[in-house]
Amino acid sequence: MLNPEFMINVDPLELEKFSQLASRWWDPGAEFKPLHDINPLRLEWIDGIAGLRGKRVLDVGCGGGILAESMAARGAGVTGIDLADKPLKVAQLHLLESGLPVDYRLIAPEALAAETPASFDVVTCMELVEHVPDPASLVQACADLVQPDGRVFFSTINRNLKSYLLAVVGAEYVLRLLPRGTHDYARFIKPSELATLCRSAGLQVADMTGMTYNPLTKTYSLGSDTDVNYILHARKA
Ligand code: SAH
Repeated sequence: MLNPEFMINVDPLELEKFSQLASRWWDPGAEFKPLHDINPLRLEWIDGIAGLRGKRVLDVGCGGGILAESMAARGAGVTGIDLADKPLKVAQLHLLESGLPVDYRLIAPEALAAETPASFDVVTCMELVEHVPDPASLVQACADLVQPDGRVFFSTINRNLKSYLLAVVGAEYVLRLLPRGTHDYARFIKPSELATLCRSAGLQVADMTGMTYNPLTKTYSLGSDTDVNYILHARKA
């Protein structure tokens, strides 16, 4: 049973959106194609910094488990948490197919932080910050969950005219990479704002990389362009 105190930082419409698509989570050509496409890039970046093998890793807002499984395949001991039941069920079922060990739980990051603080070497929180009502609370929970000197990774979407045109108009309406309504522009967050939230939560920003999509080659790559999608790496003091 979820403690209602920890259900505050969640938008039920967001959970519903991801729940409705849950059955297609592992179809690499369906609605979650962008997550499948970017996964090797983000996995490589995170592993290169954190050295995943043998680490205790928490994936916050894991959904169907695309990143969680891939980190387990690299030898990390992975726990995945989400507040949507259906994606978690899909994630659990997919373990039968992959044979990988991931511990999935339906629990809010704030609740897990109260239950077992400082219990992970690495916390990953991908494509979630822009879906919650109170990003500060989420960032604080991730900071509380990682042990001193541990690493936290956030990926999200910048907020400017270019990100509106590419991530909302381009991705949802023109190229149809994502279902309409996937993203709410008002919840996009600038790297400087995310960095401020990190510092307030006791994290030091160490590094950042941009993630760009080339519509001609239909491929993603990492680089210095953080105008739209980016991943931030922070370290707990
Ligand atoms: N991190 C995964 C999935 C991103 S989709 C990946 O990048 O591959 C966003 C996920 O966040 C969905 O599974 C959704 O159910 C979950 N979510 C939305 N609001 C949440 C909240 N407040 N707490 C935890 N998970 C949440």
